[in-house]
Amino acid sequence: MSDLILFLHRRDLRTADNVGLSIARQRSPKVVGVFCLDPNLLQRDDIAPARVTYMIGSLRSLQQRYAEAGSQLLILNADPRVAVPNLAKTLNAKAVFWNWDVEPYSQERDRAMISALNQAGIEVKTSWDQLLHSPEEIKSGSGSPYTVYSPFWRNWVSKPKAEPMPNFVGAEGLTEAEAETAKSAGAIALPTAKDLGFVWDNALMLEPGEQAAQARLAEFCDAAINAYQEQRNFPANPGTSRLSAALKFGVIGVRSVWAATVTALEQSRSDETQASIQTWRQELAWREFYQHVMYFFPELAEGAYRKVLKTFPWENNEEYFQAWCEGRTGYPIVDAAMRQMNETAWMHNRCRMIVASFLTKDLLVDFRLGEKYFMQKLYDGDLSANNGGWQWSASSGMDPKPLRIFNPASQAKKFDADADYIREWLPELRGVDTKDLITGEISQSDRDRCGYPAAIVDHNQQQRKFKEQYQQQRTITGKEPEVD
Ligand SMILES: Cc1cc2nc3c(=O)[nH]c(=O)nc-3n(C[C@H](O)[C@H](O)[C@H](O)COP(=O)(O)OP(=O)(O)OC[C@H]3O[C@@H](n4cnc5c(N)ncnc54)[C@H](O)[C@@H]3O)c2cc1C
Repeated sequence: MSDLILFLHRRDLRTADNVGLSIARQRSPKVVGVFCLDPNLLQRDDIAPARVTYMIGSLRSLQQRYAEAGSQLLILNADPRVAVPNLAKTLNAKAVFWNWDVEPYSQERDRAMISALNQAGIEVKTSWDQLLHSPEEIKSGSGSPYTVYSPFWRNWVSKPKAEPMPNFVGAEGLTEAEAETAKSAGAIALPTAKDLGFVWDNALMLEPGEQAAQARLAEFCDAAINAYQEQRNFPANPGTSRLSAALKFGVIGVRSVWAATVTALEQSRSDETQASIQTWRQELAWREFYQHVMYFFPELAEGAYRKVLKTFPWENNEEYFQAWCEGRTGYPIVDAAMRQMNETAWMHNRCRMIVASFLTKDLLVDFRLGEKYFMQKLYDGDLSANNGGWQWSASSGMDPKPLRIFNPASQAKKFDADADYIREWLPELRGVDTKDLITGEISQSDRDRCGYPAAIVDHNQQQRKFKEQYQQQRTITGKEPEVD
């Protein structure tokens, strides 16, 4: 009889190109998948219903993949630190394998699981899978982790990248008797998101599951990637890959994503398309950079990294915050973006930067409130990427340019010049002049006619206020980089 290996899935909801799963399959044909619905994560107050819906849909597709390969994916609904060792002992598993994660809670949980499994005499093997390079692989010349993106990128892109892992095939699953035993150790049928209390009835930007993610990658790398450099900043255009949720949950493997860029480069015919592909690779590197810094500096998850923003006197006006959340600030580009997120659980990157700057620099609201609201809404919500984006926008993170203040009108003029995006998400303003939508200088009569609110703050006044507060903090904290 083959040894039983349990493979624990977390943010690698696929069988293709999965490092830990491939290693498990090389060791034994009898590899059974496990996914634990972790109450420590699902009962937090920053979980987006759309994200759970995407995750459950991807788990359903993963169950099919296991069935096609000849095995099963078991579902547990309990604390993995107890439930996984208990399942492994009950099934007499020889080993439990999984892929490592960067988030502070995941690491603490994994260490507890390792200790419980080792005490029970069960082997543990962990691998790095969700990154092209693990945190330990990318260090500065002095051996310390990077805190600035550009040198990180130069080092990261210069390293050879691994090929996609072999497919998971020819596996053996549990016998009927073992499957019954698994039930006694807590294995349940896969619930729906609604069963878990998460209701999301709108369509998702990307269908759950490996097939949809692979199809999206192929479609993007066939066409849009070639114009990415030019198109990626215009929120009205479908110029980006929209693979973020698939990458967050590992529904697609990063090695496969990289391989697709290699093929795209081989087929590219011009300097422009090559530059575009390289720009998209830089976004993949941003994803890895934020995961690396979260791994090395877990305190980022708690608040500002830079001293000057640690004690910043945020005003946290509740009415302003609510208006921002609901897309009622009276600034069309900001409101359009917030409505896009509220309705689709996704927001274009350019708009994420605009609304994050507006919340922090114009409304003087603590970036952590915006960060949490994003996590409550985004179906690609990811601790490292979201925290990185918010700290970048709040000027509180690891960033050589310390103070960035976006002017909503200039942003709209540059990136939504025909106001197509604004009109799409604020249909009540469709009849208003493009110029007024861009500048935000909409007449009171137009606002009354459209039922659109007056601007809640004055951008120029507020940014002056922010800068004053910022300078005051600098005199208190000292030794911070210059404001530019
Ligand atoms: C305030 C703020 C919050 C953000 N929150 C998240 C989040 O919770 N989850 C998330 O995945 N991204 C987040 N981002 C990054 C970025 O906005 C999204 O990854 C991107 O919009 C997703 O669209 P796409 O898949 O079409 O990206 P593409 O432009 O096609 O990029 C390809 C992939 O690269 C990664 N990526 C791209 N830009 C970034 C970036 N700046 N930082 C990290 N990874 C990046 C994503 O995995 C993305 O899918 C945030 C950015 C900001 C400014």
